[in-house]
Amino acid sequence: MRKESSLYARLVEGVVECGICQRRCVVPESGRGWCRTRVNDGGRLYSEIYGEVSSVSVNPIEKKPVFHFHPGSRWLSLGSVGCNFRCPGCQNWDIAHWTIGPSGTTYMAPEEAVSKAKKAGALGISWTFNEPTLWFEYTFDSARLAKARGLRTNYVTNGFMTEEALGMIAPFLDVYRVDIKGFSEAAYERIGNVRNFRGILETARKAKELGMHVEVVTNVTPGINDDERELRGIASWIRDALGPGTPWHVTRFHPHLELGHLPPTPVSLLEKARVMGKEEGLWYVYLGNVPGHPGENTWCHACGELLIERDLFVIRTCRIRGSRCPKCGTAIPGEF
Ligand code: SF4
Repeated sequence: MRKESSLYARLVEGVVECGICQRRCVVPESGRGWCRTRVNDGGRLYSEIYGEVSSVSVNPIEKKPVFHFHPGSRWLSLGSVGCNFRCPGCQNWDIAHWTIGPSGTTYMAPEEAVSKAKKAGALGISWTFNEPTLWFEYTFDSARLAKARGLRTNYVTNGFMTEEALGMIAPFLDVYRVDIKGFSEAAYERIGNVRNFRGILETARKAKELGMHVEVVTNVTPGINDDERELRGIASWIRDALGPGTPWHVTRFHPHLELGHLPPTPVSLLEKARVMGKEEGLWYVYLGNVPGHPGENTWCHACGELLIERDLFVIRTCRIRGSRCPKCGTAIPGEF
């Protein structure tokens, strides 16, 4: 469904500038933005994917991955089509790399999404699968309604939204699960087709300042973002900007699409990344996409007590009591 964009500026002669993501596309009349989901019609900018759902499922929050926000809770996950990145190894390329034309989506009003989440006994709604920023108007309406109906809300994002967009949705967003894909222009250009990655960092910092629960994911890709400088750069930035208690997930890359020629990330490299994260002062560094690895578990940062045992997306045991370690009583960052 078409809906007028919430954030854009009218320039001259029918040209508009989009304010949803950091590309800030300048779109002439009848033109489209970089993501192809926004069109200038008569000097007004419209999203063409309002309520258009490509993917829907109910699954544990661990799948996002989010480990420090109600472990084991189930969430309604919704996605649409399009992206403002073009990651050559995208796992969801069939929806994310959509351009124009038949999209195979079904319309779901915000009220319907909220009712579905309630009926499924979900704790909340995650906007995921493709970049939720492009779905801004729909996720904003849905998040506001979801909060009013007692649900929690989660953006699984590449973090390339503008501060204005973040500021608008912030009162209705609980969790900000953001990718930090690298720590150099070169890595970001190769992974996401994006140059100014510093803006992504600033928006994540803002999300934290605005009170959201933030977790960071880095998909460690051989030869692109796997060197020590990149990994230590990300870890030390998280420590300084988001705090040492911010969970960092270093996940295993699997060869796919245009990166099908690369090997999967060696588990030993992820283990080294975890050590680097800890050396840089992070309390919680997790391995991802390595089922059964002890790096999926949570240990108290103060006394080392095993708090949560996981097996991929399943919580085997959770010993946290009242958000505290049962052994030493230290408060564990997050919401439990
Ligand atoms: S959402 Fe981003 S990529 Fe899409 S039109 Fe707006 S600025 Fe461009």
